[in-house]
Amino acid sequence: MPALFVLAGPTAVGKGTVSAYIREHYPQVWLSVSVTTRRPRPGEVEGRHYHFVSQERFDELAAQGEFLEYAVVHGRASYGTPRAPMQAAIEAGLLPLLEIDLQGARQVREQLPEAHFVFLAPPSWDELVRRLVGRGTETPEERERRLATARLELAAADEFDTVIVNDDVRRAAGELVHLMQQH
Ligand code: 5GP
Repeated sequence: MPALFVLAGPTAVGKGTVSAYIREHYPQVWLSVSVTTRRPRPGEVEGRHYHFVSQERFDELAAQGEFLEYAVVHGRASYGTPRAPMQAAIEAGLLPLLEIDLQGARQVREQLPEAHFVFLAPPSWDELVRRLVGRGTETPEERERRLATARLELAAADEFDTVIVNDDVRRAAGELVHLMQQH
């Protein structure tokens, strides 16, 4: 059975971009679609990027044990990985990948220690700050909060099985998929 891969890393490192690249270019990889209470951003499609739900619905799913893991990210919205589709993907022999935050990765490790944990790292701290500022989608307060989280998250790299440096999206995605195929 294929190993479950979990991709985590600090905010703005480009996890979303790397997973979007994998979604486009590597159909053999099955990317989990998370449930979230945040609003869709322009261009995001229900069921493709996320399942967008109310907090009430999210809490209901959590209470029913539908999530493999869930967490409040950046103190704002809730995000959770639905259990059933992931199980089905594993049984179908696809290469399953979860792109989640560090708290989520730690929860998955408690339940599935045999999964493979990949940390996506920025080429440098300065580059991470540059990417976060360059994105321009957050308010200054939000950016400060994300940077504080990122500082803590960077220190967690050594908890992971593999560190991949996101110096180039295509290269980093290729390295990850190559690693998945070897397992
Ligand atoms: P964004 O709102 O920018 O799409 O994602 C914000 C953060 O939530 C990212 O760090 C992303 O990895 C994380 N995230 C997305 N889906 C999940 C999930 O299902 N569980 C957890 N724990 N984090 C998630």
